[in-house]
Amino acid sequence: MGQGHRPQVITGNWKMYKTLEEALTFVKELIPKIKDSVSKVYIAVPFTVIQPLVKEIEGSKLVLGAQNMNDASEGAFTGEIAGKMLKDAGAQFVLLGHSERRRIFKEDNAFINRKVKRAIQDKLQPVLCIGETKEEREAKQTEEIIRKQLSEGLAGIESHDLNNLIIAYEPVWAIGSNESATAEVAQEAHRFCRQVLAEITSQEIADQIVIQYGGSVNASNAEELLSQPDIDGLLIGGASLSLETFVQIIHDSESVLNRKVETI
Ligand code: PEP
Repeated sequence: MGQGHRPQVITGNWKMYKTLEEALTFVKELIPKIKDSVSKVYIAVPFTVIQPLVKEIEGSKLVLGAQNMNDASEGAFTGEIAGKMLKDAGAQFVLLGHSERRRIFKEDNAFINRKVKRAIQDKLQPVLCIGETKEEREAKQTEEIIRKQLSEGLAGIESHDLNNLIIAYEPVWAIGSNESATAEVAQEAHRFCRQVLAEITSQEIADQIVIQYGGSVNASNAEELLSQPDIDGLLIGGASLSLETFVQIIHDSESVLNRKVETI
């Protein structure tokens, strides 16, 4: 199946950046620039700006989400946030298992798996982030790590709950390093992700799952990455903080998608 059957999703991950005023200014300027966008445009924003941005994005193409959540539905977990609170605030998707959460906050696959299940229950679209470290790639363990993170991260989830899932393949060595994976390296990892997804679910469902690439994406490499058959979108950190660069990447993604649709 060609990628033309899958939507193309371009997601900005703002991490711990942007005050409310900065977020509002960004979104107000972004909306008219993406009004004819055929790519889906998501932004994963800080918790504090979700609710105020919801009013601002009404009627636009922009989809708002969060960068993390807890696995419990509620409880005595000081400083944490529940999926149903994110939903209540207006989030539609949530990043889970980002490498910064795995590395700095020691999140493991079992915890991330519980979060994916909770997000599905709370009707938030889960974006499961996976990817190997530099050491793992050098030790030729990339496929082993991808297989483990996918199979443990998605364990016990019914196939019919997986077709709304997004996978973000983000090699840890490429995140914030200015050292993006080449299009060939990324395509090979994405192809393998889809193979594992087919083993976990079915080929039919694996063919519907959007797999994004993340790791030092910028306006110069986005188009080549997106041209690969198994790369269905991008998860962009640093470059999504600049309106000009983010818009440039979205516009580049449109021409790639149009070409892909023409070839199916
Ligand atoms: C990310 O935070 O998911 C990411 C890919 O960051 P950057 O684009 O800055 O490498």
